[in-house]
Amino acid sequence: MRKAILTICGAVLLAASLAGCCMKHEWAEATCTEPKKCVKCGETEGVANGHKWKAATCTTPKTCETCGKTEGEALGHKWVDRTLEKPKTCSVCGATEGKPIAFKEVVFPIFDANNYKSILFLPETIVCTDVDRAVMDIYDYSQKQVKQINLNPAGREPRSFDYEVCLPTVTKYDGLIITTDVDEEKNCTISFYDQRGEELATVKKKIAIPDGAWLEDRAPAEKRYLRFYANTDSWLSSVKPRLVIDCETWTEIPVEDCPPVPWFSNNDFAAVSDIVYCDKYCMAWSLDWKKMYYVHPKYYSIKAEYDDLSSFNRAGFAMVSKDGVSYDIIDTDLNVVAEGIMKGTFGRVSYHGENIFCLPENKKLHFYSIE
Ligand SMILES: [Zn+2]
Ligand SMILES: [Zn+2]
Ligand SMILES: [Zn+2]
Repeated sequence: MRKAILTICGAVLLAASLAGCCMKHEWAEATCTEPKKCVKCGETEGVANGHKWKAATCTTPKTCETCGKTEGEALGHKWVDRTLEKPKTCSVCGATEGKPIAFKEVVFPIFDANNYKSILFLPETIVCTDVDRAVMDIYDYSQKQVKQINLNPAGREPRSFDYEVCLPTVTKYDGLIITTDVDEEKNCTISFYDQRGEELATVKKKIAIPDGAWLEDRAPAEKRYLRFYANTDSWLSSVKPRLVIDCETWTEIPVEDCPPVPWFSNNDFAAVSDIVYCDKYCMAWSLDWKKMYYVHPKYYSIKAEYDDLSSFNRAGFAMVSKDGVSYDIIDTDLNVVAEGIMKGTFGRVSYHGENIFCLPENKKLHFYSIE
């Protein structure tokens, strides 16, 4: 009888364990996705905890604080453009990137900028030209002179020479220097130099140009074919150059083989000019030359009007003025990033290569760098 009872009890126990009831459950705590559960028999109690979601931030997606599961993607920073005071800053989390805009006057302790008619800043050198003295002085950025090019070696009269300093992106070179010279017999000498004044090539050719004219280069075709005209030649697009040099081989190509150069034709403006470091606009002058505009590069619709404006620099800034006195810095979206930062009293602001602008004040040249 005792045995029978034991057997019955065994049967009850077996039945109970089959139904999920053990003598002592071993509970595993509930997780985000599973309720409290016995590891031995699988019985559950209550419900899963559910994820404890932490909202997405700029850099992390929506995340469960308990198990680390994520959903979706990080929101990304909401950047506010840098200013003179602050670097690029996220308006949500305050993260920053880069540096504030740097604005400073560039001075030349070693040489007097006012001794030159033109100063252009190339990636490695500063090219200073004085047409009256017929010299081109080339300095490096420590303002040490690295070369002098004599623009009129034969000492001819009247003026028979010309020069061009090409900013990067105008040709395939980082600053190509071109000089031309014409003698009484119309023998033309055209020399090409790199930005340090090292001669790359010289081409000599007799070219029929009007008496007293000199040879000048105009916008190259496809950044490769350098086009030369007499300075008296019309700027109409139908007028063919007098000489075309391929700057990959430094040899002449037939004028008729020179690819066409896109040409401004519009009756609303006196002139339109490309902007080297910004293809969103061209610069345009009103018919009376008193107003300036940024215009659409193809359709010439006006995007902004100023009394005076510059080209954009390498860092994407330009100088503009509504009254010709007080100058603002703008970015390529035409947002003002610094107001009234410079005063001009005479002449127009101009871009001088790299990140440099020049604004004459009381006939003295002042150079400013914005980057
Ligand atoms: Zn159990
Ligand atoms: Zn979770
Ligand atoms: Zn952020």
